[in-house]
Amino acid sequence: MGSKATMDKIVSLAKRRGFVFQSSEIYGGLSSAWDYGPMGVELKRRIQDFWWREMTQLHDNIVGLDAAIMMHPRVWEASGHVEGFVDLMVEDTVTNERYRWDHLTDEERAAKKSPKGNPLTEPRKFNLMFKTHLGPVEDAGSIVYLRPETAQGIYVNFRNVQQTSREKVPFGIAQVGKAFRNEIVTKNFIFRTCEFEQMEMQYFVHPSEGDKWFAYWKEQRLAYYAKLGIDTSKLRFHQHGPDELAHYAKEAVDIQFEFPFGWQELEGVHNRTDFDLKRHSEYCGKDQSYLDEATKERYIPYIIETSAGLTRSVLMVLCDAYDEEEVEGETRVVLRLHPRVAPVTLGVFPLMKKDGLAELAQKLAADLQEDFPVFYDVSGAIGRRYRRQDEIGTPFCVTIDGQTMTDGTVTVRDRDTLAQVRVAATAVREYVGSRIVVG
Ligand code: ATP
Repeated sequence: MGSKATMDKIVSLAKRRGFVFQSSEIYGGLSSAWDYGPMGVELKRRIQDFWWREMTQLHDNIVGLDAAIMMHPRVWEASGHVEGFVDLMVEDTVTNERYRWDHLTDEERAAKKSPKGNPLTEPRKFNLMFKTHLGPVEDAGSIVYLRPETAQGIYVNFRNVQQTSREKVPFGIAQVGKAFRNEIVTKNFIFRTCEFEQMEMQYFVHPSEGDKWFAYWKEQRLAYYAKLGIDTSKLRFHQHGPDELAHYAKEAVDIQFEFPFGWQELEGVHNRTDFDLKRHSEYCGKDQSYLDEATKERYIPYIIETSAGLTRSVLMVLCDAYDEEEVEGETRVVLRLHPRVAPVTLGVFPLMKKDGLAELAQKLAADLQEDFPVFYDVSGAIGRRYRRQDEIGTPFCVTIDGQTMTDGTVTVRDRDTLAQVRVAATAVREYVGSRIVVG
């Protein structure tokens, strides 16, 4: 499943069914910025909820945070971003196309040739942070940055959160939010954009336990994707070699997914050591250490970071769920989404408008939408209504027909098997509820 996805098909379905639109499309679009439509916003929110539940509800010692996007500019000096959050950029001297130096192949770099075979300019450093000014005066003292990662909002709140929640190390802080990077090259739809969302959890541990917790979170995070229903043959780890490691990391692994354009990073798991809290202690002049009440030991915790892209996860989920099959001589396009993340759980249709079927169906839909996202649809042939729901990944469709009037039963159609079962209208809630539990 999912292997039938191509980027053209995904982009076209996303537009056709209201998942993702190009930003400012009526003005010709803004390069590489995207808007999430009625289905996209539901899918994104449900993926976020799935992650949030996994990280906070299912872990007693992980608490949430929602920090501001704009932070004190000193944060980004302490973190190393002002100095070091740079990519090397090169330009094709013939076509003027720009490339990230580290995205070229070894051969292209050695020959200083672009993928088109033309000579390249010398690599130039380019800082990815967006800068703006806070307040009415645009001088050096008013510079603020749009955060390039959500992590720093967690680090600067380490003591606030620890003291108010009274968590003891090891414990974690989870956050979901927007991040901004002035990427040299944005491509592949919503895969790499300048404005995106991250889901990050930073886990604070005793320095002697860094390796243990790194191994733990690496496995946990892979298991999470399996739980989300992602085809595990399309997931793998990529361990960073010494030349790939970021300045703050002792050990790092990427979780990669096989997108239609190849294996690419979905999430990074890093052992950041005590780098961040040490640097913040130094730069803000306030001690960021932790006192273990039991042993009276005072130390700066190590941080194990799990940093996943939310908008990138939306693309991964769409690519993984996309399927096509022949049904009665026609191609059926279906998104085999996990029922928990599908934008609509239940389609409710009267077979026909007349004979009181529409009223009955509306009543059932109103009742069920107390518990599930329901889509009521009365227009067009029933087959077409089913296909529309297949394309947005609705796992169940309930149809009210003549028999409903006599015995109170309805049919429930399963998106994946196409099997239809008759159940009492009053039992639909329980039937659907029992089938959408998280595995
Ligand atoms: P790269 O080297 O590919 O630019 P990175 O390794 O620096 O990215 P991280 O800083 O580890 O990325 O970011 C953590 C996660 O945030 C990534 O795994 C990805 O899912 C997401 N992410 C990072 N940059 C972008 C972007 N420009 N657009 C969408 N998602 C992104």
